[in-house]
Amino acid sequence: MGRFITHLECSLTGEHYPAGEIHGLSDAGRPLLVRYDLEALARSVDRQALARRSGGIWRFSEFLPVRQQANELDLGEVITPLIRLSEFESAGELWVKDEGRLPTGSFKARGLGVAVSMARELGLHHLAMPTNGNAGAALAAYCTRAGLEATVFCPADTPEINIRETAMLGARVYRVDGLINDCGRIVGELAAERGWFDLSTLKEPYRIEGKKTMGLELAEQFGWSLPDAIFYPTGGGTGLIGMWKAFQELEAIGWLGDEPVKKPKMFAVQAEGCAPIVKAFEEGAEFAEFWPDARTVAAGIRVPAAVGDFLILRAVRESRGSALSVSDAEILDAQRQVAGECGTLLCPEGAATFAGWQHALELGLVGAGDRVVLFNCATGLKYPLVDTSEAYTSQAP
Ligand SMILES: *Cc1c(COP(=O)(O)O)cnc(C)c1O
Repeated sequence: MGRFITHLECSLTGEHYPAGEIHGLSDAGRPLLVRYDLEALARSVDRQALARRSGGIWRFSEFLPVRQQANELDLGEVITPLIRLSEFESAGELWVKDEGRLPTGSFKARGLGVAVSMARELGLHHLAMPTNGNAGAALAAYCTRAGLEATVFCPADTPEINIRETAMLGARVYRVDGLINDCGRIVGELAAERGWFDLSTLKEPYRIEGKKTMGLELAEQFGWSLPDAIFYPTGGGTGLIGMWKAFQELEAIGWLGDEPVKKPKMFAVQAEGCAPIVKAFEEGAEFAEFWPDARTVAAGIRVPAAVGDFLILRAVRESRGSALSVSDAEILDAQRQVAGECGTLLCPEGAATFAGWQHALELGLVGAGDRVVLFNCATGLKYPLVDTSEAYTSQAP
């Protein structure tokens, strides 16, 4: 269990905060990162012991902050499969990590599974959050499981399926005439007024820890080595930041072989209609500016401002990766191509990573022989699909 957590640390100033207490952002208004006694952790578990465990995120419990096993919420999380897209390989290896197999059909289950478990452990009762759809559903599912209340605010044009799923799973859902940052502002105000806990992306410390399991899982699936490049559809960036943290922790305990360990290039993929991280990356900026009038078919990455912007940029730069934007037309094209040629239906955000990989190939940012992982962050079935069917006639071909 999470008996190795020692403290939390401000991601900007390094200031320490005690574990076992309720925290939001640091005093500097930045995300808090969980720190562990990694030496003690490494003495208590090894890779062989891990290999014998079943289950999803909780098999990594030593790397997670939950202290009591009874608080680990379980909705049947799985180790998500790596699917090889050999149809598109000219050289190297191309893999999709299919996160659509998780409870509520998206990788939000990882972050919220851990965050809601921690909320229960810390004695919180009512959690609130802005969402573009998938986070709300995952929050609802885990809160209902834990007996906690959940309230979410989403942009009015959030896909109906997400809204209904979230409501059916027991959360109160409000539609807001605005974008996710407008929803976030409302959550902030109402949380202060009504005593709800604000679980917005990176405004509490534990969703990153849940998303970290993507990095732990990948390392294990690749036989305790790492791929050469990872393409991540970046909204708030929790997963990219979380995976980078996972790689650092694994490196520190020596599970990735002798140092210096070759870590993957991290690619943050965004949509052209909402690319604040890409802009900041290109300008060499440490922080990203608010992106006005954000629009894209990939709702999960329609995030005009991210609290963890500097952490995303830091990981991308440290890893010698890049930030790339792709158009909606490229996203839909990629979705059709991968579905039609590989039998794998990606969600639009997942398809964006395929398009981003194609850009990176053209730009020479990934090369022949590279082992590449794309993240399909949700099941493609949760999205309205383009009608490409044909009517049957008696003269069918
Ligand atoms: C939330 C979400 C993203 C973005 O994830 P972050 O870790 O917040 O950057 C991408 N795709 C889908 C489908 C999502 O639900």
